[in-house]
Amino acid sequence: MTTPQDIPAPYVLAYSGEAVTPRLIFTPDPLSGELRLSYHKPRPRSDWHRGVLLARTRTNRRGQVMWRMLNRHRQQECMAKGLCQVCAGPAADPATGRIWWVITETGWRGTNDSGGLTNAPPTCRACIPASLRWCPQLRKSAAVYTVGGYESAGVLADLYEPGPGGMPVFTGDHNRFVGWEEFALLPYALATQMVVHLNDMALIEHGADPRETLLLTS
Ligand SMILES: [Zn+2]
Repeated sequence: MTTPQDIPAPYVLAYSGEAVTPRLIFTPDPLSGELRLSYHKPRPRSDWHRGVLLARTRTNRRGQVMWRMLNRHRQQECMAKGLCQVCAGPAADPATGRIWWVITETGWRGTNDSGGLTNAPPTCRACIPASLRWCPQLRKSAAVYTVGGYESAGVLADLYEPGPGGMPVFTGDHNRFVGWEEFALLPYALATQMVVHLNDMALIEHGADPRETLLLTS
């Protein structure tokens, strides 16, 4: 029998050897003077994105594949460039320019405009059948869409509060969505995933077992 170990791990997944233990501290923001989350030895050019501190991670793909975790760098890269989370190739359909996207219940929050928010990067058409077959999460609940466009909406983050001596105290708020307009929260957040807003979505297939009904003919 073939097992997930026999297939290449999706590009976006994290590896055990990539984990970094963060040395966090609250320090005054050089611009506003207000406290914000930082590292003991900050790298101003790479540690922040739009005012939020980014979780550090290695990108060496060493150790064991963490099948339920996304690597922060590769997740951000896929979102920024519209790359397939499985093969890292372009996720846009060459014929239509629309982007193939697999949506699951857990990685999705609908918005009022018939679009929605997700932290799952796109999946190119060629990689969709194998993804649906192998990913336990997708097997439970998945719908395949093409989307006309998407934009950066915010991050998933862990939230901290300043304790004595600027030591960060974890609030217990894990994987919380923080939008770019939530200026009061951004300085207290450690971002682990980028979140995008999808629009102009067209449902291609949906079902309890999408493998049976998914028709991806060219
Ligand atoms: Zn792909």
